[in-house]
Amino acid sequence: MAKPLLGLLVWLFATTQALALEFSHYHSQVDIDSYLLQMARERPELVHFHHLGSSEQGRPINYLVISRGDPENLPAIFLNGTHHGDERASTETVLGLIDFLILNHQSPQLKELLSSYAIYLQPLVNPDGFALGTRFDARGFDPNRDYAFPGRSEEDSFKTKPIRLVKELVSSMRFRAALAFHSGMEGVLWAWAHTADRAPDHDLYYTLAKLTAGAMAMPRYVQSYHDYPALGEFIDFVYMNYGTLALTVEVANEPSPPARELAGVVRRAIGGSVAFMLAILELDRGQLRIEHQATSASTTWPASIPPAKIATTRGRQGGGASPLSR
Ligand SMILES: [Zn+2]
Repeated sequence: MAKPLLGLLVWLFATTQALALEFSHYHSQVDIDSYLLQMARERPELVHFHHLGSSEQGRPINYLVISRGDPENLPAIFLNGTHHGDERASTETVLGLIDFLILNHQSPQLKELLSSYAIYLQPLVNPDGFALGTRFDARGFDPNRDYAFPGRSEEDSFKTKPIRLVKELVSSMRFRAALAFHSGMEGVLWAWAHTADRAPDHDLYYTLAKLTAGAMAMPRYVQSYHDYPALGEFIDFVYMNYGTLALTVEVANEPSPPARELAGVVRRAIGGSVAFMLAILELDRGQLRIEHQATSASTTWPASIPPAKIATTRGRQGGGASPLSR
């Protein structure tokens, strides 16, 4: 392991032990929205609250922007959770990141990042699904199949209100990079999801996903299509339209793991996300060493994982314990 990365991981391990928010239980939307407002009120120079719109059933959809600079004049990174309402570990991950960025915004590790980018954090993409405890939106549509992609026009997509709101945000911001958090397996996935063809930035994606997964000690990082093919995902839309370097990060093996495991899940996901954002900073300074993925996606498995284990971990469509997540 490279020395700077090891140093980062040691720092992340130490700093993520002390978060201000309690992750011994899951938060309600009321908790979440009052937390977002409170953070913006307490630190107006750093944290900005925005109301994006409301869901089909009238629930508010809000996000924060955290930056040490002027958000209007900086490139932006978008971190979102809860495309799928029942994947509550993804919601908590965004809350953990907000907490972590605010607590550590003066650390040498984050100072530059937060001075160079505006970080957009949306904990609840799909608040109706969250309230109803379902993957889908209030009308039964899957939000992460609702985006346009190279095989489907915008007119034939964006049937759900929360995803139309995300579209408004991403089309005005044209994010440099993004992470969409999900939960139901552990791993990091990159575009494309709709085709086995490699994306133009395949090796860069491979490098970013490997770093992100490595910081979480997750062995799985693969082009999303090779996890399973899916049409209409967030990562494909923002990459296709804006060149946003977007990953799906699956933070835990269950959509909503037992509360006693939650703090560990959130800490680990913070580590992966911070490693990702720092890699984007390095990339934009021309300092990121891009690795080339030599052969097919299957070689991303470390040799130490026995084939039987690979088969069960991969088997999400073929009767594996965990259903669809992303
Ligand atoms: Zn999901």
